[in-house]
Amino acid sequence: MAQTHSRAVIVSIGDELVLGQSLDTNSKWLSERLLDRGAAVIRHVTVADDVEAIASEIGRAAADAELVVATGGLGPTMDDLTRAALARAMGRELVEDAEALAQVRAWFESRGRVMPEPNRVQALRPAGAVCLENTAGTAPGLRGAVGGADVFCLPGPPREMRPMFERFVLPALRPAREVRTRLVRTFGLGESRVAELLGDLMRRDRNPLVGTTASAGVVTVRMRWELDSAEHLHGSPAAKAALDEADRLVRAALGAAVFTPEGGDGEQELATVVLHLLKARRERFAVAESCTGGLIGALVTAVPGSSAAFAGGWITYTNAMKAAEVGVPREMFTEARAGAPGAVSREVARAMAEGALLRAAHELGGTSGVDHALAVTGIAGPEGGSEAKPVGTVWICRASREGSMDCRRFLFGGGRESVREWAAATALGMLRLKLAGEDLKLHSEQERWGE
Ligand code: AMP
Ligand code: MG
Repeated sequence: MAQTHSRAVIVSIGDELVLGQSLDTNSKWLSERLLDRGAAVIRHVTVADDVEAIASEIGRAAADAELVVATGGLGPTMDDLTRAALARAMGRELVEDAEALAQVRAWFESRGRVMPEPNRVQALRPAGAVCLENTAGTAPGLRGAVGGADVFCLPGPPREMRPMFERFVLPALRPAREVRTRLVRTFGLGESRVAELLGDLMRRDRNPLVGTTASAGVVTVRMRWELDSAEHLHGSPAAKAALDEADRLVRAALGAAVFTPEGGDGEQELATVVLHLLKARRERFAVAESCTGGLIGALVTAVPGSSAAFAGGWITYTNAMKAAEVGVPREMFTEARAGAPGAVSREVARAMAEGALLRAAHELGGTSGVDHALAVTGIAGPEGGSEAKPVGTVWICRASREGSMDCRRFLFGGGRESVREWAAATALGMLRLKLAGEDLKLHSEQERWGE
């Protein structure tokens, strides 16, 4: 029997990557998938468009791992050297592959074009390697062997690389262990608080292994069940039972902060869950955004089908727009009156939310309108802070048509980008709490005003 793929190395090829002009996202994507399939990624290597360097990195990778996945350098131009490098690493000559040539030709012909002569090199492969069909572009991939290791060379563009990985690499994998993962996502608790609540569940000797990652207020709890096994008991009931039990314990520990629906793999984002809850209630919401400048709208409309639950909103960045578009009384702004609350205040956040609710109802015609509105006003920085309202101060208000409202002041850290991201996510988190009938003191929450 062929050896198993217990270790993998990922080789990213391209001058643009080593020069820092573009980011290597392929390695991240590939690592996640290989890890989920039981192959441990032991190294990422990034190498310039240099045939010697690529060949020696492939050789080094093949000496240390049973599986090598390289991406990039398969195009038709002079800086695309992966074919030649693989030939060198395998110690074989390049030969033309008739079937690959026909596929590259057909790709152009199906678009009403004639194959340019430079593209002919894309049909070259090392003798002893095979070409992998590319359904999303012209560059065929390659599969060869160096020493005892299987080497896959995939195109650089993610939209070509990903389907090729799924079609050719995944089925060829012979993992040394079975791995199952599940996610439970939370919003509102800091990562250290989540760890504290999870307690012994996070001990490193447990199976499933429980770990956390955090991003703008969302803390993802990742459960990873592993079985070292030569038999590859795919879909074993032990994995499901162990994950179900861990899932139950995690939910019990984290309570109202959990937004991942029960059953399923837990991939849903906060915006997806909010939209789902709204659709189930046949409700919609609108936004009035100041310092987030449309970020809430962007998060929500990134989800397909969002129009069923998201009406739209206003980017009321200046005081004049807050007054003109969502009817915030001008006296609330400091310029209008000494001692006025000012643009970043609970009064203005509330007036924005209630104004948005009213305006949306008006625009959409009475009762067919909107059930909830979210408003955000804050100081993202780096300028504009004061002692009373430091940079990172954000008021977020949720107002609902049945009459309830929830206004909270936050102090977010981490600079302009971070303040804006946290504010947008937190507004969605507040709407989620309302829809789920839950309450929670949120991370970075300083003060609350509501009924
Ligand atoms: P290539 O196959 O080398 O011609 O790569 C073509 C394009 O794919 C590059 O210009 C990048 O935009 C993209 N690309 C290549 N390698 C990577 C990588 N590791 N991560 C993300 N994109 C990549
Ligand atoms: Mg390149």
